[in-house]
Amino acid sequence: MVRKPSDYQSDVWIDWCPGCGDFGIVAALYRALAELDLQPEKTVIVSGIGCSGKTPHFVKVNGVHTLHGRAIPFATGIKLANPELTVIINGGDGDLLGIGAGHFVALGRRNIDITIILHNNTVYGLTKGQASPTLKRGLRPKALPKPNIQDAVNPIGLALASGYTFVARGYSMMTDHLKELLKKAIQHKGSALVDVLQPCVTYDNIHTVEYYKKRVYKLEEIGWNPIVEKIDEREEKLLRAWTKSLEHDDKIPIGVFYEDPHTPSFEDRIRDRLPSYLERPPARQIIDKEGRTIIDNEIFEKIFSTHIVETE
Ligand code: SF4
Repeated sequence: MVRKPSDYQSDVWIDWCPGCGDFGIVAALYRALAELDLQPEKTVIVSGIGCSGKTPHFVKVNGVHTLHGRAIPFATGIKLANPELTVIINGGDGDLLGIGAGHFVALGRRNIDITIILHNNTVYGLTKGQASPTLKRGLRPKALPKPNIQDAVNPIGLALASGYTFVARGYSMMTDHLKELLKKAIQHKGSALVDVLQPCVTYDNIHTVEYYKKRVYKLEEIGWNPIVEKIDEREEKLLRAWTKSLEHDDKIPIGVFYEDPHTPSFEDRIRDRLPSYLERPPARQIIDKEGRTIIDNEIFEKIFSTHIVETE
């Protein structure tokens, strides 16, 4: 069956402000899901709190709208319980890089096969435009009484430093380009970040559509090769990507900054320790009427045979 983008649209009315960059993100996501022909029953979108947190309501796949900053631990549990699922997180910069920053780092260290779509708009839109972790020091969007006195987090740099093996940036108003990035991120086996520049038309009068139009350019246009072809290139490619991520004033690059297909995913690391993990992950274990796991002796022996030490 070939699915269309409209097959992923739910019936829930989208209540984002007219003109919000979030519309571009969800449009690109519908198209990416359709072009990858992902089965809705095997796809999960997890979100935290914020304008972006509403995304699971608007996409007709499995969805969980969780607590502020906790989308990553929820998604981690879902993916590890059932590695067959495609798990995507839609979260804002305030949610994932403020209260959820510790989880953001932990996901990269584990290289779990999860895609993060970061709705990066430099403000807390849902709570009326306060400074978020990606707002640069000295800037004053209209809801701030004084200029911001904190330094900004660089999402690309933080992802690279944490161990994400696919790191990209898109722009919500260039949906064709963003759709291609989302497809690559979802297909990548490991932790993937797509940092999406997303104008908040209601509260951010600095990072507007006109602002980005003058600055954004595609990495592909300068012949950028993000892929770690051989393991011994990893450090050099990481350093280049990190240096490129610092370019964020007059010119703002979008595209894939870094892609490492060599580092094993967390699921593979667990399988190496427990060979039956992928065959019988927690979601496939049999439970009795009281909700207790029924021990399958064959699997049990497979799991523990590697840990049994023969003694005389
Ligand atoms: Fe979009 Fe900003 Fe409105 Fe939230 S407050 S829906 S981010 S324009």
